[in-house]
Amino acid sequence: MPIRLLGEKMSGRATQMCAICGVRLATTRDHVPPKAILVRPFPKNLITVPACVECNNGSAPMDSDFRVYLAAGVADNGVSANKLWKESSRATLRNNRKLLAKLSSTIGEAEIRTASGIELGRRTTYHWPAHVFNSVIERIVRGLYFHHYHEILGPRVMCTVGFRLSLPAELIAATSNWHQYNVGDALVYRFGRAVESPLNSLWILQFYGGLWASFETTPLFND
Ligand SMILES: [Zn+2]
Repeated sequence: MPIRLLGEKMSGRATQMCAICGVRLATTRDHVPPKAILVRPFPKNLITVPACVECNNGSAPMDSDFRVYLAAGVADNGVSANKLWKESSRATLRNNRKLLAKLSSTIGEAEIRTASGIELGRRTTYHWPAHVFNSVIERIVRGLYFHHYHEILGPRVMCTVGFRLSLPAELIAATSNWHQYNVGDALVYRFGRAVESPLNSLWILQFYGGLWASFETTPLFND
């Protein structure tokens, strides 16, 4: 009996695996970054990648929470960021009392300093649940990796996500000559991967001119 391989043609059409999980067949296309964190008019260079139903639809509640936490932090950073807060996030909070209670119970103010001690001033702070941040950033990077390299990271990598209010000087220096991409005002990002080991990649993302995320992928095993 011949073994059926993934990627084999089925009913005359090439099969496509999900760019996000890499384990299920893609039957939809998912926006990268999620459309939930964009505002109208949508940027012309919207990115979509093939995705399975689970990865695409299953992430909607997480995207909506992510939007609220993001918008609460960047609302003053220009017209689009302000729209994200006023037009979509406030509506979400009105309809989701649980999320509103969660967010307001942790709001405070703190003196923010960089690791090297530079004062960034006083800022409103709130607790951003790690699982919301990490899972949305991971989906974005997996989508972008596929978009730029036409390869799926799938289950072969370990992902390390960093949440940053500012970018460390050494990271700025290390990535200063990397090409910078953007999706409207919502997302600016840079990335690179190791030539000999393409599953080793580093991503720097910034949302609405405020919040930074760093993301690293490391191969889980040698294949
Ligand atoms: Zn998937």
